[in-house]
Amino acid sequence: MSTITNGALVASLPTPRIPAVRNRLRDNPVEGKKRVLLAAPRGYCAGVDRAVIAVEKALEHYGSPVYVRKQIVHNIHVVSTLEKKGAIFVDDVDEVPAGAHIVFSAHGVSPAVVQAAADRDLRAIDATCPLVTKVHREAVRFARDDFQILLIGHAGHEEVEGTMGHAPERTILVGSPADVADIEVSDPENLVWLSQTTLSVDETMETVRLLRERFPALHNPPSDDICYATQNRQVAIKKVAEDADLVIVVGSANSSNTVRLVDVALEHGAKAAYRVDYASEIQQEWLDGVATVGVTSGASVPEVLVQEVLEDLADAGYGQVDQVVTAEEDLMFSLPKELRRDLNGEQDARALGGHNRKLDWQG
Ligand code: SF4
Repeated sequence: MSTITNGALVASLPTPRIPAVRNRLRDNPVEGKKRVLLAAPRGYCAGVDRAVIAVEKALEHYGSPVYVRKQIVHNIHVVSTLEKKGAIFVDDVDEVPAGAHIVFSAHGVSPAVVQAAADRDLRAIDATCPLVTKVHREAVRFARDDFQILLIGHAGHEEVEGTMGHAPERTILVGSPADVADIEVSDPENLVWLSQTTLSVDETMETVRLLRERFPALHNPPSDDICYATQNRQVAIKKVAEDADLVIVVGSANSSNTVRLVDVALEHGAKAAYRVDYASEIQQEWLDGVATVGVTSGASVPEVLVQEVLEDLADAGYGQVDQVVTAEEDLMFSLPKELRRDLNGEQDARALGGHNRKLDWQG
């Protein structure tokens, strides 16, 4: 049964399954009814799903080991699961034996990395998310048209390194609103801003506002660079955070979109918010005085990890789970072209398409 609450679709989920031996968290007394508000969308996005399946398919088809440059997606559970299946994660292509298969991660790579892999005769499978590739193409096009690119993103993040590598001479990194005052450009009339795909929408818009104050001729990107999945997860957690005493975000510390969900929850009403990789990291004292717990997960997080959090919360008396749905997603990306070619007609039902429908509540 579904109801609409505050403009958001709320679906009642069955109480999570409770394994026979549990009770790590105590059922603490609180004022008011205990419940969980479970954000939707949450968890895997289309780009992560595709990248993880690409490694699995590569292992099935070519056999292990298959090398992966950097973490295929920023989640320690996903990485360790793939390692057990035979994937070997490396920092760079020079660690890979000549002729081996290497998968480039969802965060993308610079042309220099592609060339280095080719120089070593590696057989590359490019699992760069198509929405990151879109930003790469924008960078190349604007650089070719003599624009200087102000790339809003986090220094050292793999996606930022990959995007900057497509137009290294023309790109200036803007890390935060605080950086704007120090930016120096050579031609203020030919400027465009682009961004990392996994940033806080609100903070990015503030950075753009400040950039435009300094450089009124600043051009916008042709379409949003912050991807649909990042935006949808932020909209959902904003709605949940309004009513949550505590928000738990499942995801890894190096996952940009996960960390942003913690920030967004705190900025939109959550009294406290914590990130955990696993349910076992939830601390009993976080639940003191908490009636409503919000739960979400980053775009690289398998749903099983969220279900374990729900099971532990049920142990502590938070057995009622109401899902707060602010958008529906069924976007899928086809597998990397190198795999499609080598799978040689193996069934690949994954096609570019699907839809991303925002519901009534837009945030
Ligand atoms: S978070 Fe967005 S850009 Fe990153 S892999 Fe997912 S869909 Fe692609």
